[in-house]
Amino acid sequence: MTQLVLLTNDGSLVIDNRRGVFLQAATSHHQISIDLTGYTVYPGLINAHDHLELNHFPRTKFRDVYPNAREWSDDVSQHLNSSPYLELRTAPLADRCFIGGLKNLLSGVTTVAHHNPLHPPLKRWDFPVWVVKKYKWSHSLYLTPVEEIQWSYHKARRQVWMIHAAEGTDEIAAGEFGELNQLGVIGSNTVLIHGVGLTDADTQLAIERGARLVWCPSTNLYLLGKTAAMQQWAQTGRVAIGSDSRLTADGDLLDELRAAYATGQVDAATLVAMVTEYPRQILKLKEGGSLKKGQSADLIVLPYHDNPDKALTSARRADLSLVMRRGQVMIGDPELVRQFPGQFERVILDGRGKLMAKKLVERVRRCTLHEPGLQLDASSS
Ligand SMILES: [Zn+2]
Repeated sequence: MTQLVLLTNDGSLVIDNRRGVFLQAATSHHQISIDLTGYTVYPGLINAHDHLELNHFPRTKFRDVYPNAREWSDDVSQHLNSSPYLELRTAPLADRCFIGGLKNLLSGVTTVAHHNPLHPPLKRWDFPVWVVKKYKWSHSLYLTPVEEIQWSYHKARRQVWMIHAAEGTDEIAAGEFGELNQLGVIGSNTVLIHGVGLTDADTQLAIERGARLVWCPSTNLYLLGKTAAMQQWAQTGRVAIGSDSRLTADGDLLDELRAAYATGQVDAATLVAMVTEYPRQILKLKEGGSLKKGQSADLIVLPYHDNPDKALTSARRADLSLVMRRGQVMIGDPELVRQFPGQFERVILDGRGKLMAKKLVERVRRCTLHEPGLQLDASSS
């Protein structure tokens, strides 16, 4: 059994490389020590909202600004049978899901809350990220019949129950929280996605009931020209950030963190909590979002910065020095990755040379869809 001992500025992290978990202390003679002083280690990030099978679509809208998501959805549905949507919809589901997983992994995300059915490819042991399995969901008041919403909420029992809500700036969006409340589906397992149209009174009541919010600022700004008010939510810690899919978002969770920071509503330390500790609680996960002993060894590494929170909230995926999932290096800077056991291949990510786990490269090669910004077979360049 090989154990990895990562020497960091704050002490050492020991990882059982085979089981993929953090250990209390090194117990094996087969240790590989890796010097990570000069770097900062963070837990793998948790993305609280994505539609994993929709990340191969182009960012789409047919108007500058929509008053609510219902009108955007109507617009989109009129184009689904024409190019490029028709072709993209018929791509193999496994490849569509894989691109969603890969997008997340490359940005340092190791856990994702998927909003849609839990497709079989998302349950595979070799899927690039861990997808939350215990959840119930409804799409929204505009796409889901109310009886179905109530049924789904009650079926959730103690699991999280997620719904797009108040995604707009007009009266229709502003009325949605009241409607959901009347349906009896605002409780401590309710996770509202977006909440742009929530009034202060709605937010107050939602918080009193123990409901949670997922904030997707780049999608909101793109579609609606406005995002949710964060002050009350940020104080409670009952809010997490979700990237949403590329159909509407800037891109990945790091893009979303930068968009969130740019709104000026929340400080960097709270934003980091919104992609680590807060979503672990909100999504009722047993682990994730921390570097604790016994937990899955999911971590990311950035070059050292005297303000680590600021560094993470301004990072792009190519800036990540390392992404590790379950104790295995997935991608990182060549000088660092070479010190780890495993087989790697050269790739280029957003113009920067990286080493990527061979198994992952092979899966990328088999995929019929292309991940933007990722080039394989970089050895000849
Ligand atoms: Zn969504």
